[in-house]
Amino acid sequence: MQSDPQFNGAQEAASVSAPLMVLLVDDQAMIGEAVRRALADEANISFHFCSDPLQAVSLAEQIKPTVILQDLVMPGIDGLELLSQYRSRKALQDVPIIVLSTKEDPKVKSAAFSRGANDYLVKLPDVIELVARIRYHSRSYLALQQRDEAFRALRESQQQLLETNLVLQRLMRSDGLTGLANRRHFDDCLSSEWSRALREQSELSLLMIDVDYFKAFNDRFGHVEGDEALRKVATCMSEMCSRSSDMAARYGGEEFVMILPGTSRGGARLLAEKVRLCVQALAIPHEQPARDSIVSISLGVATLTPQVGMAPTDLVELADRGLYLAKQSGRNQVGVAERD
Ligand code: GH3
Ligand code: MG
Ligand code: MG
Repeated sequence: MQSDPQFNGAQEAASVSAPLMVLLVDDQAMIGEAVRRALADEANISFHFCSDPLQAVSLAEQIKPTVILQDLVMPGIDGLELLSQYRSRKALQDVPIIVLSTKEDPKVKSAAFSRGANDYLVKLPDVIELVARIRYHSRSYLALQQRDEAFRALRESQQQLLETNLVLQRLMRSDGLTGLANRRHFDDCLSSEWSRALREQSELSLLMIDVDYFKAFNDRFGHVEGDEALRKVATCMSEMCSRSSDMAARYGGEEFVMILPGTSRGGARLLAEKVRLCVQALAIPHEQPARDSIVSISLGVATLTPQVGMAPTDLVELADRGLYLAKQSGRNQVGVAERD
């Protein structure tokens, strides 16, 4: 990932101005007083003194220090053990700890660092050095926290973008009126199912569906009622998609299609009949062809095992011919056209 200089600059400025919080854990009140005095005139540094080491962890969790100054020799608890306790708490695991020791002993030093200390000073250090180290550790801790927060926010917005894209993709593929796949998605699907059937030499069936006398329906009941009728008719197609590979789409206007991969002519014909009966069961009143009619559909069935030299449009044309036969034979029926 590339770093953004403006972002880094803003982050640095924020960490410089954020208040620093020092927690000193030491059983000797005299040390507490000396450090308090050393920090008294320092701008932007708050100081907390804890003389009871048994309270240190819970106090630290409460006040959220940007640095902990920690004595090693205290009554009731081993200072090294206390270091491990801070590190085992999620809220304190990265807080810088400066160990304040009475002696410059490499063994003690090494033990302190291996338990999670970040720095080691022999008490009491010179004020300039103490303040410099407090500021250095606090600032790097704040910068680390701000960087983590920025990454978390980045991950969150990436996730939101991903989800928005998925919604957008679904919208781009579906028909606004019926919720079925739209024409573009149908074209894509037909093309990929065609390729698969060609590769696997399997049968591919297509139903072409058209609402009967629909112009008259609109003329008689209006477009709003017409839209509602189309929506209901569409539910029959989505309901009849029994396999996950079946797909129903709005081809355009009052025409629909269903892609049925791996389905024989007989199977497709049976399904077409089920869709026809489903629409009939809706019993949407119509006045064509007779005064007490209900809305019906005509369906064309086509089944092909794709061969090299053929195209998906061959299947569409064949289904269209089946539909034409159904219309010619009186509508409200299934027509099957054979290839010449
Ligand atoms: P046929 O039985 O031969 O199919 O006759 P038809 O009247 O259904 O056929 P035609 O193609 O002449 O008319 C189709 C009508 O479908 C035209 C239009 O008014 C209507 N239509 C197409 N799209 C929509 C739509 O989105 N909403 C509504 N309400 N009507 C539509
Ligand atoms: Mg039509
Ligand atoms: Mg029609």
